[in-house]
Amino acid sequence: MTVPPPLPEGPRRPPAEQRPPAPPPLPTRPAPPAVPAMSPAPSANDRAMVQPTEQTRTYPCANCGDALVYDPALGELRSPSCGSTYPVVLDGERYITSHPLEPTMDALHEQARRSSAPRVVDHEVVCQNCGGHTLFAGTLTATRCPYCNTPIQRTDIQVAPARLPVDGILPLRVGQDQARTNIEAWVNSRWFAPREFKKYRVLGSFTSVYLSYYSYDAEVTTDYSGSRGVHRTRRDRDGNIQTYTDWWPVSGRVHDSIRHLTECANLGLDEPRVRELEPWPAEHAVAYTPEFVAGHLARTYDGDAGQVFERQARPRIEGIVENTVRRDIGGDEQRISRMNPVFQSIDFVYLLMPVWLLTVTFADKPFQVFVNGITGEVQGQRPWSAIKITMAVLAGVLLVALGVYLYMQTRGG
Ligand SMILES: [Zn+2]
Ligand SMILES: [Zn+2]
Repeated sequence: MTVPPPLPEGPRRPPAEQRPPAPPPLPTRPAPPAVPAMSPAPSANDRAMVQPTEQTRTYPCANCGDALVYDPALGELRSPSCGSTYPVVLDGERYITSHPLEPTMDALHEQARRSSAPRVVDHEVVCQNCGGHTLFAGTLTATRCPYCNTPIQRTDIQVAPARLPVDGILPLRVGQDQARTNIEAWVNSRWFAPREFKKYRVLGSFTSVYLSYYSYDAEVTTDYSGSRGVHRTRRDRDGNIQTYTDWWPVSGRVHDSIRHLTECANLGLDEPRVRELEPWPAEHAVAYTPEFVAGHLARTYDGDAGQVFERQARPRIEGIVENTVRRDIGGDEQRISRMNPVFQSIDFVYLLMPVWLLTVTFADKPFQVFVNGITGEVQGQRPWSAIKITMAVLAGVLLVALGVYLYMQTRGG
């Protein structure tokens, strides 16, 4: 076996500290598209450009060159500097196609084994504290990790590895002002919420983030056996009415068609709160185009569609199947002795769902408050103020002590 000679090395970039600061962006003209050989040629509709400095997708304003931002109120791209707007161009009749789970996962793992270079140059921020991976389009505006509130360093930015491509997206509908108003109302309605928490503008990270979700469709056939319990009454010798259950052996086969079962593919989030943001109208997702993410962050998935299915979707589907079996058994009570769900098909689509995420560090712990980017619904933890709780507890103790004192006085006197 022969070892090929080492390839000649290209010019190396100096480490970040030695590198001269990047030149400021040109104020009036958008940078010319510098498309690396690996990237597919941009389509006529594709306003994205790969900039030589940052090598990330940006959408420069044709009027002033500033990076365009997807504006949820307009449903269009807008220039923050000059106010010009541009419609989001969808590639004709693009609709979302789902993927069969197993073959798609096999192909992904095979691709990862070959570790081919990523086809599209995407950059992501990887938080050194919590490990969250976040893609960004254009200029990174967030200065703190949206999930744990740790300041983001330039060295945290790296090239995103090959991943499942995003299939669809629910474009952000709630604007920043609305999200802020909703969060303020939520914080103010909790009177134990400490004053520090209310000062979130200074202390926290407040960002629009698209979270990664899989929406699963599945066909499941289940053979079961068990028994049906029927409540009956009889009179005993003394004439009292007794209730008892009559059990009948049963077996059968049921079928479940699962549609749009959404599961979050991100870790390190406050899971119960994220779950309460449901239901997501996954059926209204539109075909993905990165323009919807321009100016916002997109959290890439932490678990692939196979892992998330096993960890989250399968137990949930088994719960649905069990309910179907119980309904099929009928009667007043059911016992299931055997239940064997067989999946005829499992399909998924990879979707991005929008949230506004407020992360506040309180007593060295990150607290997350979510605003559903479609409905405006707020879900979050409330960090109880230690001082206020102590005061309340002390007040309670004092009242009890006073009561005991008065009681002793009346008895003694
Ligand atoms: Zn402009
Ligand atoms: Zn973090």
